[in-house]
Amino acid sequence: MRIRSVEAFPVSYQEPTDHNRFRAVCLVKITSEDGHVGWGEGCAYFPEATLATAKLVEGLAELVVGQNVLHTKSIWLALKEHSWWYGTAAGIASIAISGIDIALWDLKGKVTGLSVLEMLGGPAHERMPAIASLHGTKVHIEEMAEEISAHTATGLHGAKVGFGKRGEANLGFEKDRDLEFVRQVTEAMGPGKSLMVDLGVKNKWDIATAISRAKAFEELGVAWLEEPLGHDDPEGYKALRAASGIRIAYGEREWNAKGVKRIVDTGTVDVVGIDPGRIEGITGFQMAAEFCAMSNRQANAHNFSTAIVGAASQALSWASPACKLLELQPVYGPAQKDLVDKPIWHENGFVPMPEGPGLGIEVNEDLILSAKME
Ligand SMILES: [Mg+2]
Repeated sequence: MRIRSVEAFPVSYQEPTDHNRFRAVCLVKITSEDGHVGWGEGCAYFPEATLATAKLVEGLAELVVGQNVLHTKSIWLALKEHSWWYGTAAGIASIAISGIDIALWDLKGKVTGLSVLEMLGGPAHERMPAIASLHGTKVHIEEMAEEISAHTATGLHGAKVGFGKRGEANLGFEKDRDLEFVRQVTEAMGPGKSLMVDLGVKNKWDIATAISRAKAFEELGVAWLEEPLGHDDPEGYKALRAASGIRIAYGEREWNAKGVKRIVDTGTVDVVGIDPGRIEGITGFQMAAEFCAMSNRQANAHNFSTAIVGAASQALSWASPACKLLELQPVYGPAQKDLVDKPIWHENGFVPMPEGPGLGIEVNEDLILSAKME
């Protein structure tokens, strides 16, 4: 079965988890000659990058159309080779390839009747715990503790909270406020729940600040500290690692499996964030996650986008031994709950094993067309 067409849909939507900010992603629709359809997503997030990704997808389409739908790896290699000048080590070519690759895996499953999880070799886990992925947004810590614990009370195993985001939370800037936040949230969630702290680009900690917070957070039982020194500070992370035993998370801004290898090899990352909509798709994620497993590091899907990346993250996390949990956005918006017929969710805190051909979802194309950017 051959591929008939590749279409790019740059869309913009409001994200309730991110303070109702408008976000943009490039969705990709690939159709086979017999009319089966696969969907993918490139997580460009910003409108200008999303429009540029759409142009790249349209340009790369000539390497995809006419190819065998089963040849996901061959096509992925051809896309990588073609984009040598603008996408070898980094760059939004990786986001465009991600969108195409996810759509190809979905299409291959729709044509063969196999799920992405089955095509990846089946489950590596008996169950997959879920945590809430949230941003701190409110001025009063008590209100945030109440809100976060209401989410974890549904069975979720903990919460990862983004600091330095929009709104009035003002987290990640003053040590006393940060520690009070951690204390109150931990107490409100109760025993057995994990709290992960994820620093934002506005926080800009130096090494001394990162060490001081890490030591204090470690004492308070924070499960991991994410991007305390951004994504590209190997010397800083070495100093932090030497000074504190807290688990360090970063990696979601890497563009490919080689980038993940580079950071793992520094010996400073315990939890490697991997975004399937950025790291060259399901093919790239699988490579990166396998390397994490071989290196005895935890991998963690950066599942912070629409239900398409959600479904890909679900299948990849189930298939990858290095993935131990899956983040869900409990503040559901249309990009998660209305975009597909079966949005990813949890049952008593566990994400079910994906079922059905491809990504196991049917996409609401009318909603996509209504959100399309010009
Ligand atoms: Mg993060």
